[in-house]
Amino acid sequence: MENCNGEDMKQRVALKPMDAEQLREYGHKVVDFVADYYKSIESFPVLSQVKPGYLKEILPQSAPNHPEPLEDVLNDLQHKIVPGVTHWQSPNYFAYFPSNSSTAGFLGEMLSAGFNIVGFSWLTSPAATELEVIVMDWLAKMLKLPEQFLSSGNGGGVIQGTASEAVLVALLAARDRTLRRDESVGIDRLVVYGSDQTHSALKKACQIAGIHPKNCRLLPTSSSTNYALNPKVLCETISEDSRTGLCPFFLCATVGTTSSTAVDPLPALGKIAKDSKMWFHVDAAYAGSACICPEYRHYLDGVEEADSFNMNAHKWLLTNFDCSALWVKDSNSLVQALSTNPEFLKNKVSEERLVIDYKDWQVPLGRRFRSLKLWMVMRLYGSENLQNYIRGHIKLAEYFEQLLVGDPRFKVVAPRTFALVCFRLEAPKNSPDNGEKLNRDLLEAVNSSGDIFLSHTVLSGQFILRVAVGAPLTEERHIKAAWKLLQEKATLLLEQDAL
Ligand code: PLP
Repeated sequence: MENCNGEDMKQRVALKPMDAEQLREYGHKVVDFVADYYKSIESFPVLSQVKPGYLKEILPQSAPNHPEPLEDVLNDLQHKIVPGVTHWQSPNYFAYFPSNSSTAGFLGEMLSAGFNIVGFSWLTSPAATELEVIVMDWLAKMLKLPEQFLSSGNGGGVIQGTASEAVLVALLAARDRTLRRDESVGIDRLVVYGSDQTHSALKKACQIAGIHPKNCRLLPTSSSTNYALNPKVLCETISEDSRTGLCPFFLCATVGTTSSTAVDPLPALGKIAKDSKMWFHVDAAYAGSACICPEYRHYLDGVEEADSFNMNAHKWLLTNFDCSALWVKDSNSLVQALSTNPEFLKNKVSEERLVIDYKDWQVPLGRRFRSLKLWMVMRLYGSENLQNYIRGHIKLAEYFEQLLVGDPRFKVVAPRTFALVCFRLEAPKNSPDNGEKLNRDLLEAVNSSGDIFLSHTVLSGQFILRVAVGAPLTEERHIKAAWKLLQEKATLLLEQDAL
């Protein structure tokens, strides 16, 4: 204390970190900032154009000793941070998959930050656990999931941060269930199945769960099945593995693969999983949202055989990141794999097994009040609006696909099932690399313009461009402008190539 000068002391006394009136004043200013950001979002380059390390050059090397005015911070936000933001919510954002925000999702996120609870067990905030159970049942009903996934029986839903965490906890539950079932099986004999289109999250989950890398089978797909996993190839691989003394235990099917939105044949795969006593996980991280529409629900046919099902409400269902919905039929298998019960967390309701303690359904202990976001989205919008929102994007993707089909220089290279269009600029006949450089250059040209942002993939060895329609503000005019830009850049590149 003696070392502090008077000014320091004054600052410390003045600090009121959760003063209600300051929160009100600053909160309004920050909401205004965000609202203005959305108003002007189209004026920014969609893909940030900054160079690596740009921020270090313009921010101080250490934190301030004394408080700074909010206005100064917001000013820096506008002029130093925003240039380094890639605008996922821009209507001209078509890369990867969408990651929706909405007013309802934003408000839910604010409320969650407001309460700032850490709801690892029921006791730590009963409403957080109970609201999560309820909204996950609501969403399960919107998706017409089998009753076994509802909380009324042995199953139920839980909000994970990401689809990667969802597949990891499913894999851990499956691993332990299998090892419990047959004590003679060692972890080194456990085999996991997916396809070469399965998201890399499965491979990462295997690495974390101790599955030997050589026992992670990512079976080849091809254009002959539109990049869906072939049940025959799976059956043959399982038979061979079983014959050599290995233990097939986990199958991950995808509804809407990341590269091209391929849909694995759930009914056939589910039967194979059942016959082989494997855990069957369905990853519908992106396309799950579309399945709230009756006309797309058939893509989930076969989910009845799944042990776990996952979709990301934060991708395409207007729920701000993060909100990954996972349902399991047997919640006990998660608890058996993930539960710990240290003295300092013990309490009467948990001991009496009257409640869910979600800490036992996930990797971390602490958890946020994420159900508020989903609750706000469902209540402020309603399922009919959410269905129409999805339909709107699929219509825009269809429109973009038609534009492509009308220009013989371009080719659609995989069926468009939802709102992702995979295409490429056809290579001139004498192209030494089958048009790879041409398409890479096209991607670079449109992205560096800042007008739109697309991403790419490789299918059947070919470099492919992807347009994923799904940002909340995207309208037909944005699709038209994106197409015009693609055509212009293509013309330029083809002219250069011809020289
Ligand atoms: N599964 C699929 C099909 C995906 O498309 C993605 C991401 O796009 C993931 C899993 C991983 O998602 P997350 O970032 O939620 O882990």
